[in-house]
Amino acid sequence: MFWKKVQKKYALTDQGVQNIKQGTLWTVIVNLVVITGMGILYYMMSGFIDTLTQRAPLPNAFLFIGLTAVFLALSYLTHLQQYKSTYGLVYGEVRSVRIGLAERLRRLPLGYFGKRDLADLTETIMGDVNRLEHVWSHCLSYLYGSWISTAVIAVCFFAYDWRLALACLWGVPVAFILLFGSRKTQKKQSEDLKQASVQVADGIQETLENIREIRATNQENRFLAGINDKIDRKERIMIKGELTIGIFVNAASVIMRLGVATTILTGTSLILAGKIEFMTLFMFLLAITRVYAPFDQALALIAEMFVSQVSANRLQEIYDTPTAEGTETFTPKGHDIEFNNVGFAYDDQQVLNGVSFTAKEGEVTALVGPSGSGKSTCARLAARLWDINKGSIKVGGVDISTIDPEVLLTDYSMVFQDVVLFDDTVMENIRLGKHGATDEEVLEAAKAANCDEFVEKLPQGYATPIGENGAKLSGGERQRISIARALLKDAPVVLLDEATASLDVENETKVQVALSRLLAGKTVLVIAHRMRTVEAADRIIVLSEGKVAESGSPAELMAKEDSMFRRMTKLQAASAEWSI
Ligand code: ADP
Repeated sequence: MFWKKVQKKYALTDQGVQNIKQGTLWTVIVNLVVITGMGILYYMMSGFIDTLTQRAPLPNAFLFIGLTAVFLALSYLTHLQQYKSTYGLVYGEVRSVRIGLAERLRRLPLGYFGKRDLADLTETIMGDVNRLEHVWSHCLSYLYGSWISTAVIAVCFFAYDWRLALACLWGVPVAFILLFGSRKTQKKQSEDLKQASVQVADGIQETLENIREIRATNQENRFLAGINDKIDRKERIMIKGELTIGIFVNAASVIMRLGVATTILTGTSLILAGKIEFMTLFMFLLAITRVYAPFDQALALIAEMFVSQVSANRLQEIYDTPTAEGTETFTPKGHDIEFNNVGFAYDDQQVLNGVSFTAKEGEVTALVGPSGSGKSTCARLAARLWDINKGSIKVGGVDISTIDPEVLLTDYSMVFQDVVLFDDTVMENIRLGKHGATDEEVLEAAKAANCDEFVEKLPQGYATPIGENGAKLSGGERQRISIARALLKDAPVVLLDEATASLDVENETKVQVALSRLLAGKTVLVIAHRMRTVEAADRIIVLSEGKVAESGSPAELMAKEDSMFRRMTKLQAASAEWSI
């Protein structure tokens, strides 16, 4: 029960909790072993004092040396074990947490990534896990271990002399109460700091991503000033936070140490009253330093634990978000895509309302409609990039919400406007389409996608690195790479978002030729921008305000006097730039 709570609170894995238990056990043992060392010292001192005061024979040196040797060996072994079970094990834990998080992120519905942006998620995987690493590695084990060992020692103290025990230990609970009292303030500051850090990271990332636009519009100073402000704010919050923590931790430590003074005072008056021996006080004073030592460490750590709570919550939030699940077997009958009364909203904004249509295998189905009518959304939903709120989407008669998204996507090729390229060679970027494809297969796909012509001009041909996100390529070239990828994959369903804006006429024709090779015989759902595609489509779905306004073959729709499609086509003919 207790450990379940700890696991949730600090976002630990099952193995992580086992590690903490083990670490706690070894911390208790180490603390008890160290205090036994004090016992040996006491034994020796009392022997000497007896010799001095009562002329008793000197204590047996061999016995003392032997005891000390055993103590040192024991101390070494237990510390080693403690080290292994705190620092050592936790590195494995950090690794498995990061891998676990990445796995989890892979399975989260895409909608989640709209809520937490890249900088935020990177901060969680790297920053938050780093911060928690320290808490996992020793804060928890040290703190719990110290509590248990101090409880054991306190029982012994009280059994021996309750007055001195009280004088020794009263500071411990008071110090902790003070620290726990400050928890709320510290947590609030830590949340502020987290937010400020994410803002700094966001600001830097945004500036770097848009560096071209910023330079082109001479806005460097404005952006830099913005980042500076954010950094200043973070610094102020950080200093304030450190100061608060410092004050509370040091105050707690001083209060605890007041115990030494009260022990001396109480001890002396008890000796004067003849109630205890001097050696009893001496023993308490020896032991007391060892009682405080682990807590000194724990006090500093406890502040860190409060702060880490925010990180743990951010991690736990990822674990708590439901993933898109489904079966791993997908055996559709054909690949017709069937939308049935589909309703969908991004957060609260209703985007699709009762959309029904079928995109048949072997046909090109074109989605047309004004900007914002939900065309891209339909394409994304067809690939289960988001889950729908109402109705159903079936592929080959199988409801896609029952299929594991990764399995489903093996049957899809997507050629979208925002082509994602990696900082690798042209060859490897195309090979992404099919895991383990041979060079010959890649080259064949590249040729079919008309990549040959521009790749030949690159300094190292297909082995040329293309820069981060293909920075060295033009829009048309990037698109042809993504078509080559799709050709290589040769999936039965193709989702296509045409982009014309970035292409010149020559490029457009080349892309068009490449596309016609890709689309042959597939179920094609295309977000159409070009008249040519629309006219060549087998079926047109006209979307308007999230509803299907019209559907049919181009000829059928053109034949209707008052059809929206007819109006739009006429308008586009009038303005070549018009996109439908
Ligand atoms: P189209 O492709 O027809 O231009 P979209 O499907 O892209 O239309 O968008 C439909 C509506 O959904 C728009 O109002 C748009 O603002 C909204 N929308 C699109 N993507 C998102 C998103 N990721 N998060 C929130 N709203 C979105």
